[in-house]
Amino acid sequence: MWVGGREAFASDGATLDSFNPATGEVTARFPNATADDVDSAVAAGIAASREWKRTTPEDRGKVLSRLAEIIERHAEELALLDVIDNGSPIREMRRDAGMAVDALRYYAGLVLHVRGETVPTSFDRLNFTLLQPYGVVARIIPFNHPFMFAASKIAAPLAAGNAVIVKPSEHTSRSALRLGELARGIVPDGLLSIITGEGRVAGDAIVRHPEIRRLAFIGSADTGRAIQAAAASVAVKNVTLELGGKNPLVVFPDADLDRAVLAAKRGMNFTWQGQSCGSTSRLLVHRDIYSEFIESLAGSIEGMKSGSPVDESTETGSIVNSLQYDKVRSYIEIAHKEGSRLVTGGNVLTDGDFANGFFVRPTLFADVDPQSRLAQEEIFGPVLAAMPFTGYDDALAIANGVRYGLTASVFTESLRTAHRFARDVEAGYVWVNEVSKHVHGTSFGGVKDSGLGREEGIDELLSYTQSKNVHVNFESSEA
Ligand code: NAD
Repeated sequence: MWVGGREAFASDGATLDSFNPATGEVTARFPNATADDVDSAVAAGIAASREWKRTTPEDRGKVLSRLAEIIERHAEELALLDVIDNGSPIREMRRDAGMAVDALRYYAGLVLHVRGETVPTSFDRLNFTLLQPYGVVARIIPFNHPFMFAASKIAAPLAAGNAVIVKPSEHTSRSALRLGELARGIVPDGLLSIITGEGRVAGDAIVRHPEIRRLAFIGSADTGRAIQAAAASVAVKNVTLELGGKNPLVVFPDADLDRAVLAAKRGMNFTWQGQSCGSTSRLLVHRDIYSEFIESLAGSIEGMKSGSPVDESTETGSIVNSLQYDKVRSYIEIAHKEGSRLVTGGNVLTDGDFANGFFVRPTLFADVDPQSRLAQEEIFGPVLAAMPFTGYDDALAIANGVRYGLTASVFTESLRTAHRFARDVEAGYVWVNEVSKHVHGTSFGGVKDSGLGREEGIDELLSYTQSKNVHVNFESSEA
């Protein structure tokens, strides 16, 4: 691990194995941190943040830019570490490394925008706000975009003047550890700690640490709720949550159907084996075009190439681990039992190169009951649930009829329908005739059980500051 700018091991020497899910091989061992290790990271962070908050915003921006530069130079290696840790295809993980670089540069350019306000009071009073860092903050991240999250999510905390502790998923820790190594000599010692280990031990120790008052979590809704409760049992903390989704993609009969078919495939993120919070895993198609649409989509999905994640031509790789693999297969069984119609996929690959990995073919079920488990629960796998609707109100009721509210996508040529849908749908991020796209500078986040807080824009940067109001009386007894 990386604590205080130095390599660190778990205080009790414990380690965890890192598996390549595509081959079943153990590729590395890494520390399984204890609560003592978290204490050390917090102590190092407190010491380092005292100096860091005195630096100029420009100097903090320069550090982020230098970090972006070194990541760019090592992008291929970092992408490969993610591939052998989480089984997603190399071309996707390469893109992730590029997105991390973009995020670091975006926040490097935004440092001068951490600004308070002056508030009009009276002739001889001045009222203004100061935005100040917390000290040590923590980021707990999931397995699906290991490096992109590890690198991009330290940008806002550091830019705002904090020290930051990153806890990657125990299934995908290698690229975050490499980030810690690359950051040496660029990020001052102690300011960035990488703590690896199990969520219920290392993660929990971070959540309950009394000195960490600000923590941001990306992961499942159930873990997010447990974290809120655990944090609240210790102190009043600022906890933001980027959680799961069961996101609708709605196709009205006037849509450009070719584009919508491509979007339905792309939006499922089969290229990460469906393991994406923003995946549009519920497809709602108007009854008039439903059969034709499902048939065309099935053809497009069937053409996707499953293969070794290191192969440049692979379009869909391995599920991250056996737990997720079993979960995905159990949902396929549930779908059959619930009476959904399997259109394509639904099978695992076990021959030849696939023998020791967790490969599930991209799967499409149609005629799914909107109330069924397949339509209601986040699978986080390559399983798309399609269902017909009859009109706007019906589509909206189905779209909003889940506990989640992260993303939504609508395909229509009608301005009226597009704007009504964008207004009415319960989601934090809406695409019109588009899907999946994230844009730096626009705020991403969920409503309902998909989370709270907004990231990827200036909101994220400001969320790592605390506002202090200062009221000054400069009245003089002189005339
Ligand atoms: P997870 O909730 O199992 O784990 C996420 C992280 O939390 C890991 O680092 C884990 O070690 C840690 N953790 C687990 N239990 C903990 C505890 N009790 N205390 C503290 N930390 C703990 O999620 P996952 O399986 O790694 O990722 C998949 C989930 O992440 C999906 O639900 C997906 O939708 C969600 N996700 C959301 C977003 C978003 O931006 N909204 C992005 C990516 C993934």
